[in-house]
Amino acid sequence: MKTIQKIFQNIVKKLVEKNIDLAEAKIEAGMLVENVFNLTNKDLILNPSFKVSDDKLKKLDFLVKKRIDERIPVQYLINKAWFMNEEFYVDENVLIPRPETEILVEEVLKLIEAPKKIIDIGTGSGCIAVMLAKKLPQAKIIASDISEKALKIAKFNAEKQKVKDKIEFVHSDIFENIDKNEKFNIIVSNPPYISEKEKETLQIEVSGHEPYLALFADDETGISFYEKLVKQAVSRLCSGGFLAVEVGFSQAAPVKEIFIKNGFENIQNVKDLSGIERV
Ligand code: GLN
Repeated sequence: MKTIQKIFQNIVKKLVEKNIDLAEAKIEAGMLVENVFNLTNKDLILNPSFKVSDDKLKKLDFLVKKRIDERIPVQYLINKAWFMNEEFYVDENVLIPRPETEILVEEVLKLIEAPKKIIDIGTGSGCIAVMLAKKLPQAKIIASDISEKALKIAKFNAEKQKVKDKIEFVHSDIFENIDKNEKFNIIVSNPPYISEKEKETLQIEVSGHEPYLALFADDETGISFYEKLVKQAVSRLCSGGFLAVEVGFSQAAPVKEIFIKNGFENIQNVKDLSGIERV
């Protein structure tokens, strides 16, 4: 029998040896331990000498090995990710929600005054639509995705967060299957914005495991999805409505150009915590 503290330290050591930085390794070790033994980080601190049986350890070793050998992101190993402090189911069919995307949701919340009609294009895990539904119980929300598998996951997450009846899920490539007469006060999207040529610069955790469709736009600079989205959004917005998108590093200026070209006004950029224009 080993103490939980020893086990935790051992995982951190193994992850760091495989080039995962220390702060990240501690977070991941905590997530794995919590998942396998049903313990929290608080338990770890308060009860470091808690002993676990060898058979539970086997499962943990299996997950750590997969993390190291196959570079599978820890969120896919435990099928959990956190977004705005809520838990979301994730697997390799959906992008792992990122903290930057929380800024997008917060900005949308700032723009809204009364109950509104909102569409989340490319909902993936459903993190944006679900959080908007939780924060805006009166809003009418559509969540769409080109991937049926992603939509299934988004529905599951909506159910887990008790907002399934507040969101309509539509299988659609951007607005293709959205009723022609529907108009929205807010269109929100965290679209695929990485260019194919940036693929080699990505960690294998991302390029090898997160869904291709969720990550990559099919052009040199990664802005092709914005071209399509902005163009289609023009006729889908109510007057005074907003289109809110996440953008990749150094894409804010070219994306702003696309907005201007399509007649948008009052375009605002919001920076993320690293000072990068992100929304
Ligand atoms: N909307 C989801 C998210 O923000 C998925 C985005 C995507 O797949 N590009 O995480």
